[in-house]
Amino acid sequence: SPFSPLLAIRGVTTMYGNITALRSVDLHVDPGEIVTLIGANGAGKSTLMMTIFGNPRAAEGQIVFDGHDITHRPTHEIARLSIAQSPEGRRIFSRMTVLENLQMGAAVIGNAHFEEDLERIFMLFPRIKERIAQRGGTLSGGEQQMLAIARALMSRPRLLLLDEPSLGLAPLVARHIFDAVADLNRRTGLTVLLVEQNAFHALRLAHRGYVMVNGEITMSGTGRELLDRPEIKAAYLEGG
Ligand code: ATP
Repeated sequence: SPFSPLLAIRGVTTMYGNITALRSVDLHVDPGEIVTLIGANGAGKSTLMMTIFGNPRAAEGQIVFDGHDITHRPTHEIARLSIAQSPEGRRIFSRMTVLENLQMGAAVIGNAHFEEDLERIFMLFPRIKERIAQRGGTLSGGEQQMLAIARALMSRPRLLLLDEPSLGLAPLVARHIFDAVADLNRRTGLTVLLVEQNAFHALRLAHRGYVMVNGEITMSGTGRELLDRPEIKAAYLEGG
């Protein structure tokens, strides 16, 4: 139904041995939303992204995607459920060309609309078109991030998970990436869960956001509400 979340994380706890990385996390993403999760280094943001894919597994709680309980599904099955990830550190294939990277993304689902989707990607990121025959490893950091997102889009995801897309990028380049994500969401209704340390831009483009501290969600609200909270300004927006 249009009233149920696309992704629901309910009471999820994740452990690394006896270290509790996530503690009873509740978070949901409705269809068409951009939801941002902010938190400092080591707060558990990447662990949440990885737990969605079942690696590591949730020790407690439940993860529901599109009405299906995926908590105990194998990782490769979850990846086929139209959840695409652009992981932290933008793991593109550096020896493959840009085109080959995009083909790898398309192969996940056997995308029959490759040419059409490629044209869309060229409109979203004209730079990708200019670099299409180059090896991934020769691209700039910003271009690699564009490629990582473009590759994820090639699998026509219903949910796009972005783990720190602005990491290591110059502010203007990061801004360009965020604008592209917002544009994509506006035009196509793509649902996005965005994890960021760069709180200002990430909350500005979000419909809603969550704050994670030491593996726990400590605050949530609309992007605007969170941006206006003095404690968020003090902790995450200084100099932003
Ligand atoms: P960053 O922005 O640095 O990626 P994060 O918010 O994504 O931080 P996580 O990488 O999820 O945080 O880490 C959460 C906690 O779990 C940290 O205390 C981290 O040291 C710990 N941790 C992460 N991976 C492992 C692991 N494989 N084994 C043990 N502890 C881990």
